[in-house]
Amino acid sequence: MSDGCIFCQILAAKAPCYPVHETRYTRTFLDIFPAAPGHCLIVTKKHYTDIFDATPESIGLVGHVSTLIAHAVKEELQCDGVGIFQLNGAAAGQTVFHYHMHVIPRNEGDDLKIHSRAPGDPDELQAMAERLRQRAYSMRIDD
Ligand code: 5GP
Ligand code: ZN
Repeated sequence: MSDGCIFCQILAAKAPCYPVHETRYTRTFLDIFPAAPGHCLIVTKKHYTDIFDATPESIGLVGHVSTLIAHAVKEELQCDGVGIFQLNGAAAGQTVFHYHMHVIPRNEGDDLKIHSRAPGDPDELQAMAERLRQRAYSMRIDD
């Protein structure tokens, strides 16, 4: 836990969370400023600042989970594509300094933004998290 880190606060249940998936080492939840509906963040449970701080093993686990979340998002939302990326350092656009990976549903003609300044509607976030959670847990990670 790192003081003042919003993702650590979420993991410690001290801040709201719209959870989608959980493993021993990772948590996936919705971005509350979604770049598109269904925008997920996969975070390490341990606080690492970025790719330079995180262990290769923890990064591998996040990557492993990203395959499940990508399939869940694509199947549930029937989107045309899925953007997966992560940012390291303020110069790269990172805004939350706790290692995480974005999974963003994309559709033809989308405005390809990474960040949104508009908060999602809480009821819509809740409903979306429930849909993606059901879908993710109905799949096996190695299917
Ligand atoms: P970064 O810019 O560091 O790659 O991404 C950080 C992401 O965290 C942004 O997309 C931003 O919308 C999201 N974010 C910021 N604060 C919160 C929060 O309190 N809860 C959630 N779920 N996402 C957040
Ligand atoms: Zn943290």
